[in-house]
Amino acid sequence: MSTKAFASQADLQDKQVSFTKLSDHAYAYTAEGDPNTGVIIGDDAVMVIDTQATPVMAQDVIRRIREVTDKPIQYVVLSHYHAVRVLGASAYGAQHIIASQDTYDLIVERGEQDKASEIGRFPRLFRAVESIPPGLTWPTITFTGKMTIWLGKLEVQLLQLGRGHTKGDTVAWLPQERILFSGDLVEFDATPYAGDAYFRDWPQTLDNLAALKPEKLVPGRGAALTTSEQVQQGLAGTKAFIEDMRAAVEEGVRAGKDLRAVYKEVYARLQPKYGRWVIFDHCMPFDVTRCYDELTAYPDPRIWTAERDRQMWEALEG
Ligand SMILES: [Zn+2]
Repeated sequence: MSTKAFASQADLQDKQVSFTKLSDHAYAYTAEGDPNTGVIIGDDAVMVIDTQATPVMAQDVIRRIREVTDKPIQYVVLSHYHAVRVLGASAYGAQHIIASQDTYDLIVERGEQDKASEIGRFPRLFRAVESIPPGLTWPTITFTGKMTIWLGKLEVQLLQLGRGHTKGDTVAWLPQERILFSGDLVEFDATPYAGDAYFRDWPQTLDNLAALKPEKLVPGRGAALTTSEQVQQGLAGTKAFIEDMRAAVEEGVRAGKDLRAVYKEVYARLQPKYGRWVIFDHCMPFDVTRCYDELTAYPDPRIWTAERDRQMWEALEG
């Protein structure tokens, strides 16, 4: 294997944005595998789910929203704490920024390190990085388990259905229209990032999402899924990736192999099936490292810092 550029530093090609109407109340802002933003338009207010990485990038979401409604953007929901999803929040001027208490706790514990780490990994995804205000994005409302917001007559449920991509994963669910905004718990034609994941829990959490019987789903990355067949594909593909990786890493751990040896084997095994998904080469070292950690000494994800990112990459890809 030749030496690969660190993370996504060699990925410089801008993506084509789509703003897909799912119903009179729901839109998906997607960009060929870059992080998505969900939009819910209620009777009197707009809710945005995940913000984009910088305020300048969020302005493009706002421009699309303004093409379909002039209602005020009152709510920003953070599906989880990752910088690429939360640091554009200030652009919306929303009264309320909502996250699970678990997500809030992660921002306290590791928000600063995550910010530095993610900006280093994905320079293209932090366009106009200087527009990010100092500090972090702080939720103004937190909840545990379930919270319901009524946008007039439109019911929006914010649900924690289990750990997976992170400890604090939140989905937004429109029960009247069976539309689900999954955050990074579900990806489509994009590699799940699992560097902060709970491999043991993620498959069951996906089953819990499936039990809602969504008819449409906005994944964390990839195109909006607009039929129940596509939703099933998105859920099944993500679950297969997580289960295949866990099984492959577990085999190496049982055989007493070190992380580098396990990484090489797992990469070779998963590449034929998943290698065409975007950010595959970026995610694999982080995902295998976290899975190896979980199966050995670390029930909870260790904090990634810009320095640890580089050390890990050198150890596995150098
Ligand atoms: Zn994420």
